[in-house]
Amino acid sequence: ASKQVVNFGAGPAKLPEEVLLKVQKDLLNFKDSNLSIMEISHRSTEYLKFNDDTQAAVKELLKVPDNYKILFMQGGGTGLFAAVPLNLMSRTGSADYFVTGSWSAKAAKEATKYGKVNLVLPKTDKYNDIPDPSKWKLDPKASYVYYCSNETIHGVEFPYIPDTQGVPLVADMSSNIMSRPIDVSKFGIIFAGAQKNIGPAGVTLVIIRDDLLGNPSPFCPTILDFSIMAKDNSVHNTPPTAAIYVMSSVFEWIRQQGGVEGMEKHAVRKSQLLYDTIDHSQGFYCCPLNPKIRSRMNVPFRIGSVNGDEALEKTFLTGAQERGLLQLKGHRSVGGIRASLYNAITYKEVETLVQYMKEFQELTK
Ligand code: PMP
Repeated sequence: ASKQVVNFGAGPAKLPEEVLLKVQKDLLNFKDSNLSIMEISHRSTEYLKFNDDTQAAVKELLKVPDNYKILFMQGGGTGLFAAVPLNLMSRTGSADYFVTGSWSAKAAKEATKYGKVNLVLPKTDKYNDIPDPSKWKLDPKASYVYYCSNETIHGVEFPYIPDTQGVPLVADMSSNIMSRPIDVSKFGIIFAGAQKNIGPAGVTLVIIRDDLLGNPSPFCPTILDFSIMAKDNSVHNTPPTAAIYVMSSVFEWIRQQGGVEGMEKHAVRKSQLLYDTIDHSQGFYCCPLNPKIRSRMNVPFRIGSVNGDEALEKTFLTGAQERGLLQLKGHRSVGGIRASLYNAITYKEVETLVQYMKEFQELTK
């Protein structure tokens, strides 16, 4: 953020400038301990209070009911792909998975190591819609139902919480956590790698309902065991203290911006501006997703045609880079362009992108 650039990266992603400056200022002296957050013991009074306060911040922002625990884990989203079945699968031996993009596909694949995986949706490799509930195959005997609330690569976001008829619901919210209010009581587990909407890489936020603790597989590694992490208040072993510190500063920032309600208003406006630009470009920019399930966080699009004109896209990206519009390249598995509009991205920054898109289209005529 020292030069005038905009970081549209999908993760690690832009952090609010105010947060970076605060962290920089606090770096040498964590809570008047005269030690840096990177040097202080996770067993110190200062850290333990901070640990509790940070959990309280999550509870306040997401209105988490009392029968849930907040955990700070490691291993990223990928670690949680294993941790979820390792902690829950032994309930019945099978689990239901919604596959709506690459990340839920990866999670489902990981889960097959630990039990039977039933796919709720008809198989597809074109992730551009979420089939209607009439097409879902839910098993009432599943240990849990898993879904990814926002697919970061394909830009598929659930606009609602799936109804699982009482089976515990597990959500990967890595790329849309705290971008909208949610009714936490509808979930068994919510998890999110911090590095998109709420902090840097290194910490994974987990929100888990009490009754789901206590049933890990006998071979569940200690580091992935929710019950042990909960019992020991996320300081069973050394937590990623610095990452948690930055995350807590983002929580404070979100609170100052009107909480997750404020984030949602902001996200609606920003994504609307970009989708309107795409949809009003006479087909020059294409986003072939059902508008009902288009993500507010990750906007993938192609240039020139639905399948993308790769040469044109390359020129677009080079021009964007020159203007300081960074990390707009689509994920390597799908190509094209992707703009990530996480919490820290401002409306003005999206306007800069849209301005460039209009000029590029004009120039290409
Ligand atoms: N889930 C989602 C929705 C993601 O976007 C990502 C990473 N981009 C992951 C899981 C995997 O996270 P990690 O890289 O932290 O393992």
